[in-house]
Amino acid sequence: MRTDYHLHTPLCGHATGEPREYVLAAQQAGLEEIGFSDHNPMPTQFDDWRMAPEQLPQYVKMIEEARREFPRYPIRLGLECDFIPAYEEHIRDLAKLADWDYLIGSVHYITPDWDVDNPKHLKRWTEQPVDQIWQAYFDAYTKMAESCLFDFLAHPDLVKKFGHRPEGDLSRFYRRTLDAIAEAGVVLEVSTAGLRKDVHEIYPSRDFLAAAHARRIPIVINSDAHAPSEVAYEFDLAYTLAREVGYTEVMRFEKRKVVVHEI
Ligand SMILES: [Zn+2]
Ligand SMILES: [Zn+2]
Repeated sequence: MRTDYHLHTPLCGHATGEPREYVLAAQQAGLEEIGFSDHNPMPTQFDDWRMAPEQLPQYVKMIEEARREFPRYPIRLGLECDFIPAYEEHIRDLAKLADWDYLIGSVHYITPDWDVDNPKHLKRWTEQPVDQIWQAYFDAYTKMAESCLFDFLAHPDLVKKFGHRPEGDLSRFYRRTLDAIAEAGVVLEVSTAGLRKDVHEIYPSRDFLAAAHARRIPIVINSDAHAPSEVAYEFDLAYTLAREVGYTEVMRFEKRKVVVHEI
């Protein structure tokens, strides 16, 4: 039986649908358990795609309300946190502000003013070599793994979102990152969100996932739904990919503990 731990709420300003609609979609898709993980607040006005700090209690309340409405359906409370150097202490503070089931680490920012998946910065891809952008992304991802702040790490090769790819064997970019993830003992996300983007490919690629499996890195399979219709999006493809590279287990999360579950 399947789970989906990467679901958003309208509080981030770019997702639609109330939590109850995500729950109903999850039940419809046959999921056994779900979790919400909206974008974390930042201490300053950082960008326009996350809740404000004062909205965090409202977020927690929304999930508690969904739990009350569906008392027999496990609904976990998570948060998708941006890993940005110099904000580690902020993440530690957030970790204390609610009874989280898990914290997700994500790299969106490769410099303080460039969220690499944001279409408003597409022009920058023409202004410097793709190799450099990929390197900056995976350097940040490696630091995120080394921080040990998170329970799982999201959309591992998000940098490919718009279809920009360096030439040749790409393992040169993520080999060190995977070593850091294995060393940290953190779980890696397999995300079907990439199938909905220009790249039309699961995050991470088959080669990346096979290299993760070779290092015995555990995984969780999620949709990164920003609308109820995206819950469990193309999960058959993701589970097939995971099995094909050798995975027989996925992880579940409760109160920041990992539980192993057979696929
Ligand atoms: Zn989002
Ligand atoms: Zn997300």
